[in-house]
This record gives sequence, C-alpha cells and structure tokens, in this order.
Amino acid sequence: MNRRNFITDISILTAAMTLSSFKKFTDDLPKADKMPVLFVGHGSPMNAIEDNEFSRAWKTAASALPKPTAILCVSAHWQTKGTKVTMMAKPRTIHDFYGFPPALEQKEYPAPGSPEFAKLTRETIHHTTVEGDDAWGLDHGTWSVVAQMYPLADVPVFQLSLDYSQSPAWHYELGKELAALRRKGVLIIGSGNMVHNLGMIQWKDEGYDWAIEFDAKLKKLIEQNDHRAIINYQDLGPAAKLAIPTNEHYLPLLYSLALQEKDEALSFFAEKTLMGSISMRSLRIGN
Ligand code: ZN
Repeated sequence: MNRRNFITDISILTAAMTLSSFKKFTDDLPKADKMPVLFVGHGSPMNAIEDNEFSRAWKTAASALPKPTAILCVSAHWQTKGTKVTMMAKPRTIHDFYGFPPALEQKEYPAPGSPEFAKLTRETIHHTTVEGDDAWGLDHGTWSVVAQMYPLADVPVFQLSLDYSQSPAWHYELGKELAALRRKGVLIIGSGNMVHNLGMIQWKDEGYDWAIEFDAKLKKLIEQNDHRAIINYQDLGPAAKLAIPTNEHYLPLLYSLALQEKDEALSFFAEKTLMGSISMRSLRIGN
C-alpha cells in the first residue's frame, strides 16, 4: 500500500469510526418522555451568585425537573450572523459584563460541553445550516441561570446562537425543530427577558406602568396560546415598543414557546417586573 492510499484508508476508517460511535451515542440515549422546556428571565448577572427570590425560583424550577442529559441554552447574549452551536468539550465561562464585584467576575462554571448533542442539533435542524463553533463558551445569559439550577456543574451545557439578521417568525420556526432533543432528555432553556429596556432602568423595586402592562399582556397571550400575536409583537402598541427596544432578550422566548405542543401544560415562575423596565417572568412548558 502506498502512502497516499494508506492515508486515504485511515481517514475513511476514522470517519467510519466517528460515525459508528456517534450512532452508538444516539442509540444509547434514553427514549425519554418529553423533557419540559423553560424560558428564564435572567435579569442582572448578580443573580448568578446571589441568594434572592429569582435564584431561589430557578433552583425550585430545576428541582422539579427530571435530571437532564444535557442543557441547550438559547441566550440573548450570543448573537451571530448565521446560526451557530457550541461544539467544545470544555466551554469557558464568559464574563460578558463590566463593573461587577470580584466574586462575580471570578465566578467559574465548569460544566462540560456536549459535542455529541451539538452534532445532533446540527443534524436535527433543517431550517438553516447550523455552523459548529469552537470559540464561544457559556455567556452569562446561560451560566448565571444554570449555575444556580445545577451548582454541581455535572450536566453538559451547550448553546445555540441567535442569528441577528432573521425575523421573529424565522426564529420561532427554527425553535420548533428542537423538539426532537426534548425526547433525548435535553433541557432547552430560552434565556432573556420579556421586558428589557436597559436605557430606562431605574434603581427601584417595581416596574413602570407600561412595563407592568406589557408583562401582563404577554402573560395573557401566552396563556391563550396566541403565538402569532407574540411573534408579531411590534403590533402590540406603544408599551411593546418600550418593552422591546431591541429584540435579543425577547427572541429566546419564541424558541421556548415554539416547543409547546398541543395541550401541554404551562406555568409561570419568578413573576415580577423590577428596576422600572425589566420583567423577570419565567415559564415552564410541559409536565
Ligand atoms: Zn441579559
């Protein structure tokens, strides 16, 4: 065998082994019941290390779930051109914020990644081509929430990015395609805030009237399963314009709602508007 053939044979063999070990990975996965889906209003990065009403609500929500095989987070804080999924085995903890105490700046969340589930996600999605990513990691939209939910960092975590060039309806359709992962025991979390206007933040405990109004309107639309109105939020009047000046914190909600199947239960937690212009409203879909 000449060198060239040898190299070709080795690469075919390696590819075949990778394929067969991946097939074994997917065959070995439990045929789980549908894992519930969450949307979490993450708010301040300090929620990652504080013991407060939100972090306690997140812990309670996690403790009511079956143990996930992995967690896929769609975070407001990872916007890209095109859609990407993190492929690394050891994602770094990204401190994508400024001016916070050292306890937060130095906090590490060493959960493993899941190259296998990331690969499965790429194969599951047909709505667009999903690019594998080796550079990102876990941004605070993900780890501030997941570190409270799973403090032992013993569940693999990976992220799907938000393509900033796409419409809300496009994101909703993409979200639907993640349904198969629920049946593999993957916990899908949309992490953002339903009302999020940083330019109007005030250091007060409650929300502005318009923030409370829009949060209540969204709650009602969610309860009525009126996803069309939620996708077309720009038609929801002046409060919507104030609540969603940019939509990166809103779009993760569409991924979670897209996964709600017919007659699936829905419940809210961490229901509060605060700091004038932030809603922490979070939800769980599924039994
Ligand atoms: Zn945020």
